[in-house]
Amino acid sequence: TDTGSQKDRVVSEEEWLKKWEMGNIGFHKERGHPLLQKYLDVLVNGRSGLRIFFPLCGKAVEMKWLADMGHSIFGVEISEQALKEFFVEHGLSYCEEPVPEISGAKKLQSTSGNISLYCCSIYDLSSSIVGKFDGVWDRGALVAVNPCDRQRYGSLMITLMEKNSSYLLVTVSYDPSKHKGPPFYVPESEIKSLFG
Ligand code: SAH
Repeated sequence: TDTGSQKDRVVSEEEWLKKWEMGNIGFHKERGHPLLQKYLDVLVNGRSGLRIFFPLCGKAVEMKWLADMGHSIFGVEISEQALKEFFVEHGLSYCEEPVPEISGAKKLQSTSGNISLYCCSIYDLSSSIVGKFDGVWDRGALVAVNPCDRQRYGSLMITLMEKNSSYLLVTVSYDPSKHKGPPFYVPESEIKSLFG
């Protein structure tokens, strides 16, 4: 399939912020993703109290779901509006603090302490700031990354993973010559080359 037409496409951070402001967020789903329910056992793999990462998290309801199962949730998102809506819509109180290592970044943390959402670009994070994760739920994340940034995203994600971590990735299969994305079309061969 021809992915050439998407290769040079860039969605800027400003465009994402605008989508949130305009309520143009068709990607957000009110109900938990059926594939997370289906593959929850693969993610958790009999372990408890995991550190689970949601890259490009938006206000994904699955964060609340996994937190309620006793896991510690970490997310990153450039839209502060999205993060605030997450806490408000789930009736969770939270506090805000700056992230000393990243200029302009904020951490919004539930008062109960088990949900920590970083408001900054994912490319500003590193394991020295957020630690490493036992699990990753990547839905609307790799497929939202600009194709020119995929390599950087993949390498960063690998550095954020613990040795025995599980990574659930959702991609979207469609004819990339008919839609400019996002979500972008990420062929299986590219996933193999990014993550091995
Ligand atoms: N994973 C979420 C949101 C998917 S949409 C879900 O399943 O609903 C992609 C999100 O990534 C948007 O909310 C956008 O604001 C955010 N985003 C885009 N570029 C980003 C970046 N560089 N760092 C962090 N968040 C980013």
